[in-house]
Amino acid sequence: MARSVFVFNTHDLPHRAGEMREHQLRLPVSEPIGVDLLSIKPGESVDVELRITSVDEGVLATGEITGLATGECGRCLDPIQWPIDEAFTELFYYETAASRAAEKNKGKKRDSKRDEKTEVNLDEDELTFMVGDEIDLELPIRDAVILNLPVNPLCDEDCPGLCQGCGEKWINLPEGHAHNPEDPRWAALKGLDL
Ligand SMILES: [Zn+2]
Ligand SMILES: [Zn+2]
Repeated sequence: MARSVFVFNTHDLPHRAGEMREHQLRLPVSEPIGVDLLSIKPGESVDVELRITSVDEGVLATGEITGLATGECGRCLDPIQWPIDEAFTELFYYETAASRAAEKNKGKKRDSKRDEKTEVNLDEDELTFMVGDEIDLELPIRDAVILNLPVNPLCDEDCPGLCQGCGEKWINLPEGHAHNPEDPRWAALKGLDL
């Protein structure tokens, strides 16, 4: 499998707490990022202003994500565009921190309060780890985008949507438009002997 475009190599960042680097990334999207009705589509890209900082445990990554999601209005199905401008923060632990935690867990020593505290801090299920010098930004980026998208996007808050009878946009229909058989216009037609 091709290497994910979201994997970033932090080799230029010294492993010394406090060191910081900034990178401008333009990442081509191959799988839609977003929700059903609204997403950054394959062929588009996301721009990430990435800042990586060395901390004791690993690399702290913060990013500003910009891009353009496209989709359709949940009521009238008109195409809509939704500018993305979100941020994420993710701490990627050094793998060595992971193996240290695993060692400790194997020992299951309960006789030291410091050990317990370390175990709590290094609950592996909730942590994100580096692979060598690499950090995978895909999940933080996806989460930041998805969590901030409306599930039911609208072209306009007041979009009246479509007539259920004919599928036409209410905005294009004359006042009083209806498909009710009791509609006087239909009644009049019925009366005609065609
Ligand atoms: Zn609409
Ligand atoms: Zn209609």
